[in-house]
Amino acid sequence: MSEQQKNYDYDYFVIGAGSGGVRSARIAASHGAKVGIAEAKALGGTCVNVGCVPKKLMSYASHYSDDLQDMQGYGWSIEGRTSFDWSRFIDNKNDEINRLNSIYQSILESNNVDIIEGYASFIDNHTLQINDKKITADKILIAVGGTPYLPDVEGVKEYAITSDELFYLKDHPKKILINGGGYIALEFASILNGLGSEVHVVYRGEMPLKGFDIQIREKLIEAMKERGITFNFKTNVTKLEKTGDLTTAYFDTGSQDQFNTVLYATGRSPLTQNLNLNATDVEQNEKGGIVVDKNFQTSADNIFAVGDVINRIELTPVAIQEGHFLADYLFNNKDFTMEYNNVATAIFTNPPIGTLGLSEEDALTSCNELDIYESSFRPMRNIIACREERTFMKLIVDPKTDLVLGCHMLGPDSPEIIQMAGIALKMGATKSDFDKTMAVHPTAAEEFVTMRSVSRKIR
Ligand code: NDP
Repeated sequence: MSEQQKNYDYDYFVIGAGSGGVRSARIAASHGAKVGIAEAKALGGTCVNVGCVPKKLMSYASHYSDDLQDMQGYGWSIEGRTSFDWSRFIDNKNDEINRLNSIYQSILESNNVDIIEGYASFIDNHTLQINDKKITADKILIAVGGTPYLPDVEGVKEYAITSDELFYLKDHPKKILINGGGYIALEFASILNGLGSEVHVVYRGEMPLKGFDIQIREKLIEAMKERGITFNFKTNVTKLEKTGDLTTAYFDTGSQDQFNTVLYATGRSPLTQNLNLNATDVEQNEKGGIVVDKNFQTSADNIFAVGDVINRIELTPVAIQEGHFLADYLFNNKDFTMEYNNVATAIFTNPPIGTLGLSEEDALTSCNELDIYESSFRPMRNIIACREERTFMKLIVDPKTDLVLGCHMLGPDSPEIIQMAGIALKMGATKSDFDKTMAVHPTAAEEFVTMRSVSRKIR
């Protein structure tokens, strides 16, 4: 260590105690580095506070409406009226988030990471201002994540809420407009539909979930419509206006409607505004994301960035692995290569999606021949419950190499199932490997290893 390095307050200072930052901080500390972390809000970042965790809890809450219907076919009944108490649920959800915040605090403290509450902004490449303190560090990690993006449309900033606020809404929205066609829009559409709200979704394009396999997208929207959600595609909001307790939304189709709540889920932007990056050599891309090389090094030699702020794949497990690998690399001389292919992901809609590898459309850009295996069936649980909803599963195979290029599922438990398929695809599984794998019976997952006939040959 040079004389100059010895004089820094920290070997490694992390800005942002979200998924990537906390992991990187504690791994660096476990390798003996002196580490500090700054967080202006709650520990755990987006995932724990206003993302994956509360969303999954809301998704669980929304499932009970299905269970209450399905149980009747199985002989169960409840005397009297069933109801959902929004405030009780939100209070319990908040208690759980507070519990997780404390766990994050103990993880950091038990690894001797100093936690500093407040926004950190740069004074120069090695110096940060946090509240009224100046802190210096040899290496600095920017792991500040992102924030909801709101388009510049009249009334949107005043009258629309984002997912951040939805998690803390005081009242159950009776009628909600959701603008967007991505993960957040569709997950909240399903959740609120399950909780009894009247849900309307507008999306500017032709079919939501751009980039996902088209069959999965179409079948999901069909199922969501069947559950009572109203969709309007190729539609934009031109203005929002407050009318008493309601918000009036005007659309470019010429129509208008009133809602209790308007939720914008129109993507997220890197949260770099308050960092004063101008005082550093760090470069940003046109979307405001921090530009990094394969080792997450920015254009300033001692400053690194991971997670949503680098605009690669905005998923918690990706940020965690980036932060972990980086800390091992910087403080334990361990080389790494982040692999961004075959990242399994799930959308917690009702029914949910589990997806992995290439969509049919993407596979066709690199292979001119494909074998498509498809299976559509009513899951066993749905038969007695008189639920018509079907599960759909799909494998995309390169007939020349027999490699499974894509694995997609729409139906109950697909997020759990796709996680395991992720290992197979990472190991380069072929269709014959899937065929040789013994089925677990009776499950829905077994369809992935029992699809024997090609349903479509693309040549
Ligand atoms: P997404 O990028 O998934 O979707 C944004 C949506 O907003 C797109 O449909 C986009 O349309 C639309 N949009 C963008 N700009 C405008 C505009 N100006 N006017 C109207 N519509 C617009 O973002 P989300 O906010 O849903 O989620 C952010 C990220 O968080 C995701 O990318 C995902 O990585 C992560 N996430 C992951 C979850 C999970 O793992 N289950 C759950 C929730 C979030 P278009 O398609 O035309 O671009």
